[in-house]
Amino acid sequence: MNKDFQKIGPTVTMLVPYDCNNLCPFCVNKKEYRDISSFDLDRCYQSLDLMNRVFPHNDIVLTGGEPLANLETLRDILSHIEEGHHIYINTTLPVSEGSSIEKVADFLNAHADRISCVNVSRHLKHYVRECSDEIFNLLKVKTRINCVVFEDAKEEATKEKLIAFLDRFKGRDIQLRANYSLLTLENVFDKENDNLFKLISEVCEYKCDLEIEKFRTGYVFERNGSRITYHKTLPFAKIDGVIGDIIIRQTGLIYDDWNEYGAELNINDLAGIRYK
Ligand code: SF4
Repeated sequence: MNKDFQKIGPTVTMLVPYDCNNLCPFCVNKKEYRDISSFDLDRCYQSLDLMNRVFPHNDIVLTGGEPLANLETLRDILSHIEEGHHIYINTTLPVSEGSSIEKVADFLNAHADRISCVNVSRHLKHYVRECSDEIFNLLKVKTRINCVVFEDAKEEATKEKLIAFLDRFKGRDIQLRANYSLLTLENVFDKENDNLFKLISEVCEYKCDLEIEKFRTGYVFERNGSRITYHKTLPFAKIDGVIGDIIIRQTGLIYDDWNEYGAELNINDLAGIRYK
């Protein structure tokens, strides 16, 4: 399948109806999984179809919860998404009892033509249940390590942990993420007073800024063959009526923002905007 096309329109992020069994302190999705009685996969499919008609060439992110918690359903979801979208999967690469890293890798490799990137959560502290790093050598699909730096960037211990982390994933694509819950419109584009930016600059080589967008910004670094991005995204996906992310919740209902910040999507909010 050709993945070499331009993204047009806001990203559609679908929260899969499967929990992750982790308890990361920075998680914004976890509370959605406390009551699963209204989850409805068929309605999620209807919403994917609807969004596909509006934005046939945008990015689709499957997140949760845990998209790989149920491989059969994930197979179904992937086959349901029309061609013409870049598909990204946010996962911890869980290996369930009776399974193995080989089985998980085989599954992802079998769908490599549909998946643009598998974003794997790994953090300075083991907030998520981790499988063996050997899995990365088995995967033929593009991967990126996503790490939320929750620790105080001013602490010397954080610097040591960050260096050990970067060494562990040497040569891989790594995205270091700010603790989004601390970000505001005032500080999201600020480098001068950003202790995490300073820390990353100390241990990596700064290369360039990513283009500033309404909802996010980022910086590119290098270290030991790794491309490292430091990514700052507001916990808002809608600002001044402009929608950056469309969320399909586990119920199948479509929202224009994350969690308590969001409201059910008003289609007119999409009508007046020229999306690229
Ligand atoms: S693995 Fe992801 S969804 Fe699960 S608790 Fe951590 S951040 Fe939240």
